[in-house]
Order: sequence, then C-alpha cells, then structure tokens
Amino acid sequence: MSDLLSYLPPVRGKMRPKVPLESFTSLRVGGCAEALFEPEDSDDLIHFLRRRPLEIPVTVLGAGSNVLIREGGIPGVVIHLGSWFQRVFQEGATFEVGAGIPVAEFAERAAQEGISGFEFLATIPGTMGGSILANAGCFGRSIQDILVEIEAVDFCGRIHWVSAQKIDFGYRTSTIPADWIVVRSWVCGKVLPSHLVLRTMEELRATRAATQPTEVCTAGSLFKNPEGQSAWKLIDTAGMRGARLGGAEISPKHANFLVNRHKATAADLETLGENVREKVHHATGVSLEWEIVRLGLPSPQFPAWEAILLQQREGE
Ligand SMILES: Cc1cc2nc3c(=O)[nH]c(=O)nc-3n(C[C@H](O)[C@H](O)[C@H](O)COP(=O)(O)OP(=O)(O)OC[C@H]3O[C@@H](n4cnc5c(N)ncnc54)[C@H](O)[C@@H]3O)c2cc1C
Repeated sequence: MSDLLSYLPPVRGKMRPKVPLESFTSLRVGGCAEALFEPEDSDDLIHFLRRRPLEIPVTVLGAGSNVLIREGGIPGVVIHLGSWFQRVFQEGATFEVGAGIPVAEFAERAAQEGISGFEFLATIPGTMGGSILANAGCFGRSIQDILVEIEAVDFCGRIHWVSAQKIDFGYRTSTIPADWIVVRSWVCGKVLPSHLVLRTMEELRATRAATQPTEVCTAGSLFKNPEGQSAWKLIDTAGMRGARLGGAEISPKHANFLVNRHKATAADLETLGENVREKVHHATGVSLEWEIVRLGLPSPQFPAWEAILLQQREGE
C-alpha cells in the first residue's frame, strides 16, 4: 500500500490526505480527495505543479457548485484555491480578481464601489475560476461580456496570460484547456451610482428565487439547453418533473434542476440524471448533454491514483 503524500513535493500551504469532499460541493455528496492541496499563494501552487510526479492526477475544485463527485472520490491531488486567491484590486472600472473568490461576493463589492456590469454574477454561487472556465451566465449576460484577460497555470506549472479575445467562448464553454488552473482575471465594468447597481442585483435575486429552487442542495442546471430549445421543457415533455430516485429528485419547481432532497448518494443523483436523459431521448429524440461536471470514481479504490494508472495502461 503506497502513501500518496510521500510521493509529493513539500509545500507551504495545506496538503491533507483523504479529505471528504461532500462539504466542498453544493450537492453535498461525494467521496474523498485522495489528497487535498490548498496552496498558500500562486508561487506555492506553481512550485508544487513543477515538482509533482507527472503521473499523479490533478483536479481543481472551485466552490463545487457545478460538480457531482462520485462515492469513490477523486484520485490524486485535488487543488482548492484558498484566501490568497480571493483578493480583489480595483483600478477605475477594472478589477483584478482572484480565481477563488465567489462571484456573488465580487459582484457585491463592485456594486458597493459603484461599478455596474457584474450584477448577473450576484445570483451564481461559483468562484471566478470555475465561472470563467464554463463561461457562466444568466439573465442574458455571461463571463465573456466582462472578461479582459486571465492568468492561468497549467498542470506542469507554466504560467499563461491570455487576453479574453483569444478565448473562444460558447454556451457554458470556453477553449481554456482542461489542464489549466485559472488563478487571476481582469474584468471591466462601468461607473454607475451604487444604489442603482445594488437595486438591479436585488431584482435579479428576487427573479431567481421566484423561478428556481434556491434553498436546496443542487448544482444548478442539470443539462445544457440544446440549440433553440429549453432542457426543462424537454424534461417536462418526458414527464420527469418531480421524478425521484432514493434521495434524489428532479425539482418540481424547475425541471432542469437535480436536487439532493434527502440524503441522496452520488449514485442516486447520477442514475436519476441518466434516467431523465433516456426518457427525454425516448420522448423527443433529443440527446441532452450534462451541464453538471461529473468527477471521480464510482466506488473507492486504494490507492486510487495507482488504480487509475493501471486502468489507463490496460486501455492502451
Ligand atoms: C443554485 C445554483 C444556481 C446556478 N445558476 C447558474 C447560472 O445561472 N448560470 C451558470 O452558468 N451556472 C449556474 N450554476 C452553476 C455554477 O454555479 C457555475 O457553473 C459556476 O461557475 C461554477 O463555479 P465553481 O467555482 O463552483 O466550479 P466547480 O463546480 O468547483 O467546478 C466546475 C468545473 O470548473 C473547474 N474549475 C473550478 N475552478 C477552476 C479554476 N480556478 N481554473 C480552472 N478550472 C476550474 C472544475 O475543475 C470543474 O471542472 C448554478 C449552480 C447552483 C448551485
């Protein structure tokens, strides 16, 4: 039995073995991170990535508001950006924003400073890093409308500065490579009296509360809307609004929200999602695509990172 931590380089931040991840996600399910690394700062992150054995998998987790982590947990090292990555600096209507800050918190701070343009972020529970990766958005706006530049570090520790114009953004997608960790970004708004910005944010929050489940454990939209169609309407057509499996439920309030109603397992949630996909395909011919990112192994394996390597070699 090998201990993952003994293979890893020393770090200044926190490196902990076998950390349960359910409290790191809004669906409140999932197994352990084989190791969880919370870097002290950007240099600590880069130092770790440059020296880690390349065969050990790396996964980055933001606020966990768009992920479903399976019972077997995540093999290798899960990186979680802590307080150093939540710093915000302002210059006029432009902000330098750490990737770890919850976007709603950033929007609130910008509003207090009388800068408009970020109001839509007030209703999204993710961090800036996760939101940039997915081009998160609502109420007709998305990250691509405000982003100027990103700084990212790849899994080998190389630093990349990329202007927003060089990134192709689509509906909940970006061309940011899967092995990059966004660490900082620059976003731009416009000056407006603070009370007006705050009022708009309040209105958006109220609209959200009226139409979507906000007080439950969910990860936002379950499926992406297919071109020109609404996932929730297709789910309704398939008669799956309110469907349940174990503790998992398709929200009766919004049919495209998967909810951990009562002590659901990750398997309950994933299986219910797949059942909905099948029923929708059967009823409408449309193949829905998961918007929620599914991570990890279905059941625990130890040491997980070695099991993953073995699987990869067998598949070669
Ligand atoms: C109630 C509710 C409402 C929501 N409403 C919306 C909405 O209106 N619009 C919308 O777009 N989304 C919505 N979401 C989904 C979610 O909040 C967004 O997708 C958010 O941007 C995810 O950010 P996160 O930090 O939680 O990412 P996580 O869930 O932690 O991670 C999601 C993905 O991003 C990657 N990632 C995280 N951080 C980084 C980083 N720093 N660098 C590179 N990759 C990273 C992860 O590896 C993972 O693949 C909602 C979710 C909930 C629970």
